[in-house]
Amino acid sequence: MLDFTIQNVLIAVSDDYATVDVQIVDGAIAAISPSLQVIGTAIDGKNKLLLPGFFNAHTHSSEMWQRGIISMFPLELWLAELYDFAPLDPEQVYLSALGTAVETLLSGGTSVVDHLVLIPGLELETIAIATRAYKEVGIRAFIAPLIQDESLTAGMPSGESAQTHEPYFRSAAATLEIIEEAVRQFHRPDEGVNILVAPTGIQLCTDALFEGCTELSDRYNLCRHSHLLETRAQEKLAQEKYGCTAVEHLKRIGFLSNKTSLAHCVWLNDADIAILAETQSTVVHNPLSNLRLGSGIAPILKYRQAGVNVTFGCDGASSNDSQDLLEAIKIGSILHNITDSDYQHWITPRQAVKMASLGGAKGLNIADKVGSLTVGKQADLVLYDLTNLSLLPRTDPIGLLVLGRPSNVVNSAWVNGKQIIADGKVTTINVNELRQELFNRSQWETKRKSETVAQIEAHYRTVMGL
Ligand SMILES: [Zn+2]
Repeated sequence: MLDFTIQNVLIAVSDDYATVDVQIVDGAIAAISPSLQVIGTAIDGKNKLLLPGFFNAHTHSSEMWQRGIISMFPLELWLAELYDFAPLDPEQVYLSALGTAVETLLSGGTSVVDHLVLIPGLELETIAIATRAYKEVGIRAFIAPLIQDESLTAGMPSGESAQTHEPYFRSAAATLEIIEEAVRQFHRPDEGVNILVAPTGIQLCTDALFEGCTELSDRYNLCRHSHLLETRAQEKLAQEKYGCTAVEHLKRIGFLSNKTSLAHCVWLNDADIAILAETQSTVVHNPLSNLRLGSGIAPILKYRQAGVNVTFGCDGASSNDSQDLLEAIKIGSILHNITDSDYQHWITPRQAVKMASLGGAKGLNIADKVGSLTVGKQADLVLYDLTNLSLLPRTDPIGLLVLGRPSNVVNSAWVNGKQIIADGKVTTINVNELRQELFNRSQWETKRKSETVAQIEAHYRTVMGL
């Protein structure tokens, strides 16, 4: 591993900034101080800002193939359209994982949580391919194979009518065996690849699947990830299914913990929020997806006041429809100025940066290893070019980065001390080739019709009172 020293770089300190040198030795931050001796390669940090890498703490990489096209639908209908057009092949999985990694990196992320949609019948292969893509790019990867054991129609409340659902094609036990095998083959935290247990959510999973995941998590020390109460329909469904809230139920069956991160968390009540605080669960805020699908605005300021850890995600590129982490952080911060009138609780740019970095690390149970500029921690770092037009004229660098509309501002990025962006370019893969492949394997589309939406839309409208 190459040691290096970043010289004369701006870093954030308490309420101010300082110009320092940062030494990286064996992939870890060895010293932060003015005028240090150069160890290894000298890197010019002048007029640049150094921050810990952010976490794209919830996404679904293969959705990239349908970004920009899915109809203006709420989640339940949006999902039906997504899955009607989702027959993916392994090469597509590979390319969209590369694309997700690159867009995350170029917007300040050094870690990605991919709630990975698995190709039916090729589950382990899908995980292997995503693993290969992330290792090639060099981003820190948290691969969370998306699993369920109920069919799609079970995800909607039945309302007054008695609904029957097709059984899912694979049992919980058989699915858990696949995940355990994936852990054996691919879970290598020291090499930057982590496998998570990741049932998609209460809407499509039985208790047996959640409990099996918890058991695997305990046995192999795996993080846990799931969607939680993204829509009002799911809130209704939880009441129908359990006779209590989804959060109360997940606590009862033991899924919530300090290594559990939960995407969305839009429809929680005060008692639910207290449970998340008590169990030290992490909320992953995906504001753009929640806006795009009309899911609602997650009560993020309430979470923060209750002491719940919050971080940000882009969510899949079909419900965003990008993977720009800085954009998610900006909207995810200022959105709440609408919902909460007490401006003293509004999220400041510095708080947003901390949520995106240390908040993500806490949610993935590695806050002792990454997430801040701290001597001894791994060097997951991003260097921003403060001379970029979108960050000028000079005011508060972090304010410009979070509240502005920064474009092409990432000069360099390192994961575990390995440089994967230099001079604004990804060094590990050929992005021009990636661009060409994405272009060649797709076409302009304007009209398409989802058969499943046609089948379920009337029922959805009835139960939702539309
Ligand atoms: Zn999601």
